[in-house]
Amino acid sequence: MGIVFYNKKTVRDIDVVNKRVLVRVDYNVPRDENGNVTDLTRVNGTLPTLQYLLKRGAKVVLMSHLGRPKGERNLKYSLENLTPHLARLLDAPVHFCPDCIGPEAEKMAAELKSGEVLLLENLRFYKEEEKNDPEFAAKLAKLGEIFVSDAFGAVHRAHASLVGVAAHLPAVSGFLLEKDLVMMSKLLAQPQRPCVAVMGGAKVDDKIGVIKNLLPSVDRLLIGGAMANTFLNALGYDMGASKVSPEFIDLVKELLEQDVEKKIVLPQDLVVADSFSADAEHCNVSVDNVPEGWMALDMGEKTIATYSALIKSAKCVIWNGPMGVFEMPAFAKGTEAIAVACAKTQGSTIVGGGDSLAAIDQAGVGYMITHISTGGGSTLEYLEGRHLPGVEVLQDAE
Ligand code: AMP
Repeated sequence: MGIVFYNKKTVRDIDVVNKRVLVRVDYNVPRDENGNVTDLTRVNGTLPTLQYLLKRGAKVVLMSHLGRPKGERNLKYSLENLTPHLARLLDAPVHFCPDCIGPEAEKMAAELKSGEVLLLENLRFYKEEEKNDPEFAAKLAKLGEIFVSDAFGAVHRAHASLVGVAAHLPAVSGFLLEKDLVMMSKLLAQPQRPCVAVMGGAKVDDKIGVIKNLLPSVDRLLIGGAMANTFLNALGYDMGASKVSPEFIDLVKELLEQDVEKKIVLPQDLVVADSFSADAEHCNVSVDNVPEGWMALDMGEKTIATYSALIKSAKCVIWNGPMGVFEMPAFAKGTEAIAVACAKTQGSTIVGGGDSLAAIDQAGVGYMITHISTGGGSTLEYLEGRHLPGVEVLQDAE
């Protein structure tokens, strides 16, 4: 498969005892309208690295982004209220610095004692972060003696805290990043056969490159979600008021023509609704029977059966993106059935992308999936065979 194989040093391969360690994490956590943190999955994912460091007397300085404050100091996006959660989860003193660079951050980092943590304010309060500004990166690097990247969800971006900072400090990976890279390359470098990829969701532009890259290496590529509408439309089916991406029709036609082995599998039937709402009138129709003004919001019963059987008999499954509007219970059946099939397959399964993870949670099958990737965009770029800038900069393992 056209994926990049990485062999990078981790915190295990470097002396961290009593060192000041600058760790890039992805604490872009979901929050409610009052800013309270509603899910700590991303924080929990980093605990093995942080506990490893603290046990060895390291002084841990944490940096992360949160949301899109667009380079301005906007306290709506402050990381401060993660401090008590971190202190509880790590059972260690956690200090908060209201800045991520400058004299105050430098003083607090210098005064940090062994076994203590300093959480820096949101990196994206500075526009220099996303621009990978070298001076900004140098200022961040002043806060540590070693750089650890543990933010798989962000390593596809060449930002200062992920790339620039590595020019100044010994740079290694944390355990969460390591796990994602090792598991994905282990399962995908020489996938067990048959290997089935399942692609859903709405954004065709994100996934068309992935489909192209995966097609030569997989045995079947099952398409669902709004993306399937674009494929069906490219084959000439009238999709009524369904979500279609007309700008991709030509590209999709080309892809279907190239697929001489007919690996791409499309829905036979769909659940169509008279409006985009949870209580819309809906029914099961074949793909050539979408009523005028109605829209496809899930895959139909026959498609669920076909896709589930292909997934269950596979030895390797890669899934990204929901099969329908799974946020509405009436249109969640397809996605939940795929989640269950992924859990029941005899082979190994890799699931990536925020929405697929939510669907896995919704179906309650997370504990049966071989590898749940913490990245969305980064998983897709990795599957597309692209290099991840935030991984490239880390030291190679010997
Ligand atoms: P993506 O970010 O590309 O993975 O898309 C995820 C979104 O696609 C979810 O919010 C789904 O509700 C949406 N989606 C999936 N299937 C459909 C569909 N048939 N029509 C409209 N939206 C859909």
